[in-house]
Amino acid sequence: MSIILQFTAVFSIALLSPMFIPLIGVMKYPALDNFVNGTTMPGDHRRIDVTSPLDGSLLSTVPLSTPVELESAVAAASEAQSAWASLTQRDRSQFFFNYRELLRSHLDELAELIHLENGKTIPESRAEIDKAMELTEFACSLPQLTSGEVLEVSQGFYCSEQLEPLGIVASITPFNFPIMVPHWTIPVALALGNAMVFKPSEKVPLSAGRTAELLTEAGLPDGIFNVLHGDRELVEAICDHPEITALTFVGSTPVAQAVYRRATASYKRVLAMGGAKNHLVLLPDADPEYSGANITASMAGCAGQRCMAAASLIAVGDVDHVIDRVCQESRAMIAGENLGAVISSAARDRIESYITEAEDQGARVLVDGRNTVVAGHESGSYVGATVIDQVTPEMRIAREEVFGPVLSILRADSLDDALAIENASEFGNAAVIYTQDGDAARQFTERARSGMVGVNVGVPVPREPFGFGGWNESRFGAGDITGTGSISFWTQAKKITSHWIHTDGE
Ligand code: NAD
Repeated sequence: MSIILQFTAVFSIALLSPMFIPLIGVMKYPALDNFVNGTTMPGDHRRIDVTSPLDGSLLSTVPLSTPVELESAVAAASEAQSAWASLTQRDRSQFFFNYRELLRSHLDELAELIHLENGKTIPESRAEIDKAMELTEFACSLPQLTSGEVLEVSQGFYCSEQLEPLGIVASITPFNFPIMVPHWTIPVALALGNAMVFKPSEKVPLSAGRTAELLTEAGLPDGIFNVLHGDRELVEAICDHPEITALTFVGSTPVAQAVYRRATASYKRVLAMGGAKNHLVLLPDADPEYSGANITASMAGCAGQRCMAAASLIAVGDVDHVIDRVCQESRAMIAGENLGAVISSAARDRIESYITEAEDQGARVLVDGRNTVVAGHESGSYVGATVIDQVTPEMRIAREEVFGPVLSILRADSLDDALAIENASEFGNAAVIYTQDGDAARQFTERARSGMVGVNVGVPVPREPFGFGGWNESRFGAGDITGTGSISFWTQAKKITSHWIHTDGE
């Protein structure tokens, strides 16, 4: 993005939000504060820099909150939650109709913000907000989905069930989707009557601040949605807090495991989504043009920083004509144009080290994205789309999550061999097959050990009302984080048995 365009974008954000007045020459935005009880909460915190992966420029600073700030947020949530819960489902959902319109009218501004703090391209940022709107629409539809049940179980005895909120809940999110992943939980959890403490990634905190402002503008009562910025210390305090009854976490597997263990130790309801290593199986009968483009988009979209991204392509038999297309498409991914930045220079170095190690172990780099520099953005963090052939299942690059625009090709002789590789993965987020053969597709969907499976769909994200959720080390806890399953996660069912006695004449 040109400097002029960049300042124009920042200026337009400043016009729309008093919180984001650009400080030219120092950092683009003022120091960010927590958002508690409907307003910013300044405090005496440790702070860290928020830099743009696009060019390394300083965007803002973010507080690293402590258990003291958590107490304030929980107190505000506690004060507000019972009045919020006493509204009807229809009344609570009304706020989210307003909010959805605000997301729509601020789409350009939010897309610029995501682009600046996360590094993904503007079209990718816009797509993320589109998805957040769809998730908000699900919260709008809750009156139709939560009507409950009633049954006359014996003559004159009625059992009914009604859903009640849990109280104060928490949501902790990663850097890779600053708006969409938070919206997996925020609209549905709040619309169901809970109050929330939200802890976004400290790498992309600006979008979270705007989310809080827009929810307030939509009319959400103060204290129902509170944003606390921070790192491990804050996450651990959230896990331990006795008044927080449930939490969701989305991030890497080691942290998801630690959060799940710690938060369940204090008897919370927990769903912790972890990392991924997604396998795409390519059969010789796959449509070459479509599959080549679709595999590349899955691998390089959002610079490979998607938990649904293609990581390993299992090439069955002679599919070199499709691999040639993947290489062509990958070379057409231009960093700084249709390929965004990765989140930091540390992430770039980690991704490049996986490529170099695989090469040293005998893999063949067909398209090499190392040492990618974008002219005028020399301090940005970029990795070009990379395709590596002759990767073997024992190599670290085939087993661990790389989280960058890198496709490892593993060779297999049959669908059975391909499934054996997929089934051996400790992760289990997504698995995909490219074929025109219905029987092969059926075998694959039955035997893949992943929670989300695609047939000729490289990023098989289920859309509402279906739920998003992986298996194995990609998820700790039961159920899905979106869709109808999220309704039971964020509520508790009360079962009522009634028998009304006829008292004639009274
Ligand atoms: P991360 O695990 O480093 O951070 C996620 C959250 O945990 C952040 O809010 C962070 O502040 C906090 N955190 C980091 N280290 C912590 C620690 N030691 N103790 C307590 N909290 C800690 O993840 P990330 O780098 O921000 O995001 C990328 C990861 O998220 C990838 O592994 C990706 O696959 C995963 N992800 C998974 C899904 C899914 O649905 N399965 C979706 C999106 C992203």
